Amino acid sequence: MMTRRALVVANWKMNGSTAACEAWAGAFKALPAPEAETALCAPAVLLGCLAQHLSQSCVALGAQDVSEYASGAYTGETSASMLRDIGARWVIIGHSERRTLFGDTDARVAAKVRAALACGLKPIVCVGETLAERESSQTLRIVEKQLTAVIDAVGAQALASGAVAYEPVWAIGTGKTATPDEAQHVHCNLRELIARFDPKAADAVRILYGGSVKPSNAAELFSQPDIDGGLIGGASLSAQDFYAICQAA
Ligand code: PEP
Repeated sequence: MMTRRALVVANWKMNGSTAACEAWAGAFKALPAPEAETALCAPAVLLGCLAQHLSQSCVALGAQDVSEYASGAYTGETSASMLRDIGARWVIIGHSERRTLFGDTDARVAAKVRAALACGLKPIVCVGETLAERESSQTLRIVEKQLTAVIDAVGAQALASGAVAYEPVWAIGTGKTATPDEAQHVHCNLRELIARFDPKAADAVRILYGGSVKPSNAAELFSQPDIDGGLIGGASLSAQDFYAICQAA
């Protein structure tokens, strides 16, 4: 089995400003580089500012969504090549907020992953069940359906060039976290699903946990064998808290 380097990704969601970019980057750069690989997924409009402030740092840049289209008459969209051009290397795709609020279906998520890969952006594919789905014992069926849609479109090897994030919807921004055992159970099943398509890709792919990760609960979650890091929302707005979570990975 290969050792997977931990990956910790900040998701600022629709928060931040040019001043916040400067302050966050200054605070993070003042600390010794963590061993984990790190990325910051910020609103597209702040990526240029962050590219300046985070140059010479270990934090890679990422976006929070990408258009499924390459270019043209798609008002309001941001293409994968534009994100690459401004310095992004990663992109979150299929976050539950986009699935529930902005109509990202499994098919559209797969199309966005394909568009990202075509431009060399590394997709972070998010999957996760709602509370009702968990309570009706549908967790594995739902996350496997979400991930299979992407594997069917781009293949398991391509998936492994990015990362997968398991984010139970009921744990995002709620202060409720899956227990390490609950999360490990889902991560292990997702890895087994990928292995059915490509065992090497399954071994290599990083599966991140997301949902109210904080400095106080990160180490226990990250100690699970199939949890390879985290996707961090609220706590990533503080450079110090995000750094502490990176150190736990
Ligand atoms: C997220 O937005 O991906 C997330 C996990 O949010 P939070 O950490 O705030 O729950």
